[in-house]
Amino acid sequence: MQASINFLRHNTAEFEKYVKRVLEINPQYSNLYDILANNCERLRLYKEAVAFAREALLLKPRDWTAMSILGVNLLRIGEEEEGKAALDKAYEGDQFNVMTVNTLKLLDSFGHFVRFDTTHFKVKLHEKEVAVLRPYVRELLEKAYDTLTEKYDFKPEGPITFEMYPDHADFEVRTLGLPGIGGILGVCFGKLFVMDSPTARKPDSFNWGSTLWHEFMHVISLQMTDHKIPRWFSEGLSVYEERKGFTGWGDKMKLDYLAAMKSKKFLPTAELNNGFTRPKYENQILVSYYQSSLVCDYIDQKFGFPALKKMLLLYKQGRSTADVFKESLGLSLEQFDEEFFKWVDDKVKNLDVKPFTELISSGQEALAKGDTDKAIEILEQAIYLYPEYTDEHNAYESLADAYLKKADKKAAIDILKKFAM
Ligand SMILES: [Zn+2]
Repeated sequence: MQASINFLRHNTAEFEKYVKRVLEINPQYSNLYDILANNCERLRLYKEAVAFAREALLLKPRDWTAMSILGVNLLRIGEEEEGKAALDKAYEGDQFNVMTVNTLKLLDSFGHFVRFDTTHFKVKLHEKEVAVLRPYVRELLEKAYDTLTEKYDFKPEGPITFEMYPDHADFEVRTLGLPGIGGILGVCFGKLFVMDSPTARKPDSFNWGSTLWHEFMHVISLQMTDHKIPRWFSEGLSVYEERKGFTGWGDKMKLDYLAAMKSKKFLPTAELNNGFTRPKYENQILVSYYQSSLVCDYIDQKFGFPALKKMLLLYKQGRSTADVFKESLGLSLEQFDEEFFKWVDDKVKNLDVKPFTELISSGQEALAKGDTDKAIEILEQAIYLYPEYTDEHNAYESLADAYLKKADKKAAIDILKKFAM
């Protein structure tokens, strides 16, 4: 534990002292490196996890846990052949390690994937959908690459591998070795990024283009900072870039985000990572994605995009978040939060969940009763108050209906266009 903490804090001398102390007590204790590897894995330091697993195996070549960790993480950094060889060995030694077994099954299923290269990516798509998806995937990957590498003035190290899974269970194994991360659509390991394919989910339940863009932005932010970027900032930037990528992309202010803002549930920036790793209420992870993206929006609006880029470069140097804010924005975290929360409060000052949903309901009731003019007035007002609200029971669709009742096709189309933005 002490060794992990010191390693992660880049405290080499202390780290080596603890390692030495443990190995003096038990020179065969390869478990020490297994623990270190696991902790690195958790922080998305896959290269480091591979290195520690190798250390464990030097001490004890029959440490099958280490062999399994080695295999899984080699796959994550794109070393497929060596990774498979390690997993085969791990399986020979221990047939009951779930990570090993699941990952080997997944590798078998790779036989059903078609591999092809684009200018900057190695791509794997399932044989049953490759014909349909290939042109779209190729075009969007290259567009994301051109747009974001130019904007961030950074060319990520390759080869970069992109995979799409029609079977969400395979995607889960690919990302964690274990099924069970229902809500997640995509994951990025630095040089490898993978996601559900459009057929893995019900139609309309997610926008795969937006997700691809989001995950590629992680390739940039992780590599630009040698994986030292905090989770919240990486997610915030990815959502921020989704919104810039294409009209309608990126998460909008949903009702539960509004509720969280009104009840002051946003976290101080210094604690924002906890919203992802140790959520305390339902939906806190999603609220934290949204908050992080707003932090990026705010910094962009107030300080300009170069400030966001500078933050990445400071994180690469291993600087703390407090340092990064001080140096790139000239503010302490407390000062930043004060400004940011004021901006957030201002955004929602005329808005609250219950009055807003009641307003839409009364507009829809008026429409149902045939009072079209009244419905239009109310629904227009609802959209004016809260243009981002496009989920179920939204004002846009009812308003378009109301215009159609008045035979005003043009107004109906205009409203539906705004709805899709
Ligand atoms: Zn993400």
